[in-house]
Amino acid sequence: MAYQALYRVWRPQTFSDVIGQGVITQTLKNAVASKMTSHAYLFSGPRGTGKTSCAKILAKAVNCLNPHDGEPCNECEICQAANENRLNDVIEIDAASNNGVEEIRDIRDKVKYAPTEAKFKVYIIDEVHMLSQGAFNALLKTLEEPPANVMFILATTEPQKIPATIISRTQSFTFRRISKQDILDRMVYILKDKNIDYDEEALNIIAASAEGGMRDALSILDQALSYGDDHLTLTNAQEVTGALSNEQITAYMSAIAKNESAQALESLYKILESGRSAIRFTEMIIRVCRNLILYNSNSDLSDQMDNTIMTKDLLDLADKFDNQRLFYIVDQVSSAQRNLKNSNQTDVYMEILTVKISEPQVMDQTDVKDKADNQEVEKLSGQVKKLQSEIKNLSTGNVQVQQELPKKKSRKAKGSNHLNKTAIYKVLDNATKKDLAVAKDIWPDLMSKLSVTQRAKMRVADPVAASVDGIVVAFDFELWFEQVQEDTEFLDELKSNAGTLLKKDCEIVLVPKDQWPRIRKEYISNNIDLPNKDKVESKAEPKKDPAVDEALNLFGNEIVDIKDD
Ligand SMILES: [Zn+2]
Repeated sequence: MAYQALYRVWRPQTFSDVIGQGVITQTLKNAVASKMTSHAYLFSGPRGTGKTSCAKILAKAVNCLNPHDGEPCNECEICQAANENRLNDVIEIDAASNNGVEEIRDIRDKVKYAPTEAKFKVYIIDEVHMLSQGAFNALLKTLEEPPANVMFILATTEPQKIPATIISRTQSFTFRRISKQDILDRMVYILKDKNIDYDEEALNIIAASAEGGMRDALSILDQALSYGDDHLTLTNAQEVTGALSNEQITAYMSAIAKNESAQALESLYKILESGRSAIRFTEMIIRVCRNLILYNSNSDLSDQMDNTIMTKDLLDLADKFDNQRLFYIVDQVSSAQRNLKNSNQTDVYMEILTVKISEPQVMDQTDVKDKADNQEVEKLSGQVKKLQSEIKNLSTGNVQVQQELPKKKSRKAKGSNHLNKTAIYKVLDNATKKDLAVAKDIWPDLMSKLSVTQRAKMRVADPVAASVDGIVVAFDFELWFEQVQEDTEFLDELKSNAGTLLKKDCEIVLVPKDQWPRIRKEYISNNIDLPNKDKVESKAEPKKDPAVDEALNLFGNEIVDIKDD
């Protein structure tokens, strides 16, 4: 006999077989028993929660020759024909594939003919929200004047897409997600029946990832079992669901606890390499943090912990986090999830997230950051203008100038150490294409001297301008720019490594990539002594203008915008 999917084999055949929808099944049973069924039902709810199963049972129950308390007997010829899908009076339509007006018109034409074998002709329309407007109109006509002995059961995962005129003509039932415990019990029941051994943990992982859908749970169970061995193992369940192993999550979280970014990144890379999905991973981090919060808060609350994921090793980490930090991590992870869902650069986002949550000193600053940034940039650009003339005269150069700029008071006084236009301008004053080529040339070697964490931060950074003794480095992500900009130790190390490679002192100046075009433009318009500045912007013949030549020399063709009207 061909293999049949578990969810088909174990599809409930009576109302009492249906898991987790007690109120609905009881109501339907009563209606059948008292012959008070409606001519139209709407079953809505998430996928795999029993809508279609209930529709089939209801269709069978109203037609059963020997119903018992509203339940179908499953033995009479009608029940058997229904169970084998050969009862002509039960018509199933998948609106997802039959969404045309024609199909519904077809119903309207045939609906007036009496049922042939059974008492009721039952139309089950699955995913009814997929019907076109025209088809809804046709359906509405039929529902307005329903012939005797006809029943419509409409099922949908998206009731909000169904016209109110339709809904008002149906008796509506909302199916809930099935509780994890109910899903667990059902899987245990099935596995015992099939004589299959299982790891408790494996079932927990499957139940969690099914998200309240019994059909999904049984499909995952099917896949996990197909790995073989008449035994459901934890590893197989993890493989199928993309769940992390306890070792993986523990390694990651303990690196976070110790503020070891490098270690955290290494375990992140291992997790991603093993094919685990970034989204699943972030869900796991959140679950672990929530459980740690419960564990830390109060011993009563710890009863509500999800013990399936909280191994002893993870619980041992509890006292290394305070709840404020855990809430912070949950916040950061949740906002990273939004980016992950819309991005194909999931690895980069995971790296950013990892460094962020493994360096707790960044906390508190995030919220005030943007405001501080803007104010600070404004203030700085005023000062920069004043300082510009002085710069060239200062023999000791940039260092002293920087000291005259507002100094950061502490890590919390954010923004003061941000964009350093003075330093950028200084590089631009003497920038050449040749120096930029040299900078790009040594870049890979420079990166190879860094630690894992440092390299992760620099992965989205490239040299965009260089002079004989300075390199401007632009960062794709502002967060990375900030992190490196604030890390004076790291900056010094970068400088000294660059110095070693170039065999001379070299300043490294950072800029967020999205601000670079503006800064570049400002510099060109402010700092190059143009005989007729407007001409460059608009109508001069660019190639012949010495100022443009200079700009081209600085940045190369691809960077200088020469407008030719
Ligand atoms: Zn029957």
